[in-house]
Amino acid sequence: MKRAAFDTGRAWVEIDINSLIHNARVLQKALPAGCRMMAVVKANAYGHGDIEVAAALSREGVDAFAVATADEGIRLRWYGIKGEILVLGYTDPQRIPELVRFRLSQTIVDAAYAKELDWAGRPLQVHIKVDTGMHRLGESCEHVGGIAQIFRCGNLKINGIFTHLCSLEGNRPDDIAYSGLQAQRFQSLLDALKARGITLPRAHMMSSYGVLSRYGTGHGYARIGIALYGAASLQSEGRYIDLRPVLALRANVALVRTVPAGESAGYGRLFIAQRETRLAVVTIGYADGVPRSLSCGKGSVLLRGRSAPIVGSVCMDQLTVDVTDIPDVERGDTATLIGRDGPAEITAAQAAMDAGTIPNELLCCLGGRLERAYLYCPAERLGAAEEG
Ligand SMILES: *Cc1c(COP(=O)(O)O)cnc(C)c1O
Repeated sequence: MKRAAFDTGRAWVEIDINSLIHNARVLQKALPAGCRMMAVVKANAYGHGDIEVAAALSREGVDAFAVATADEGIRLRWYGIKGEILVLGYTDPQRIPELVRFRLSQTIVDAAYAKELDWAGRPLQVHIKVDTGMHRLGESCEHVGGIAQIFRCGNLKINGIFTHLCSLEGNRPDDIAYSGLQAQRFQSLLDALKARGITLPRAHMMSSYGVLSRYGTGHGYARIGIALYGAASLQSEGRYIDLRPVLALRANVALVRTVPAGESAGYGRLFIAQRETRLAVVTIGYADGVPRSLSCGKGSVLLRGRSAPIVGSVCMDQLTVDVTDIPDVERGDTATLIGRDGPAEITAAQAAMDAGTIPNELLCCLGGRLERAYLYCPAERLGAAEEG
């Protein structure tokens, strides 16, 4: 496009809060009865801006959030986010006073950790994590006795018990079978705890791909990240949910120059012009989060509604594209790296595939140097984040 409406001068992301709200609504409708959405806003809401995203979702009635670290949770509280905030990662026990003060729920990473937290003598909210086969965090689902003991820790208020499925993204029969096995192990554990007379808190295991593939039923929460941002890499097994991309990544054209055939461009002279070539220099680079693996034609940008391949290597602050076939490109034009430009679109899933990664990594690596422009629709009465 010639000039984006929200051009901030160099390189920026546009976050369409209306699409976020749309996604939250259709996902909530897709959840089984009684299942609540826990919006996953870790890593700055996958690069979308944690406070703005959480505030908009709060206004939409979402009252449970998940973050990776205590500091991410504390930030949400500072900005007035209410409700359940679950810290999914490990927190050093020396930070218990902060967990208590900011009413964060801490994930119990194993039974010994539960004892450590309990011995600190402060009333702490927790969710128990159970390992059903991912072998990352969680007490083994086979240690029913050890997990049952956590329920006897007087200082721990247990708000939930959960597991994480590790092969949801795949569609191969053995991926599906493994998810089934994990779900079965989780259910057996819950049954065993119930048989010991334990009143179970909300149990949860679904994440985005679980919801999209209709995996699991009747669970307490669905922990949804990438689907909320409309950037899931696949919609598996016949479940279509109308999710809209929330984020666009754009930058400006600094200059356009023509080089004769045989000339090189960029570091390492990785590009050699095979013909007289018009090159446009775009003001964004790997320090902004554009993967270097998009160099040398692996990735492209949209200019004036058409695709222009990246030539040579992506630099720290700039990259160069071939615009020989898009003759009207000029300085100040807006290049789109993720998002729509007229009839053309590059989705986060496409850009991630070109870069040899997944949309989650691509999005959460979008750097702090990028400006962020938030689009709200007044008709929907969505105010700015400061109001929340
Ligand atoms: C990040 C994370 C999620 C969210 O996963 P998505 O695939 O983005 O929905 C859910 N649960 C846990 C434990 C996570 O770490």
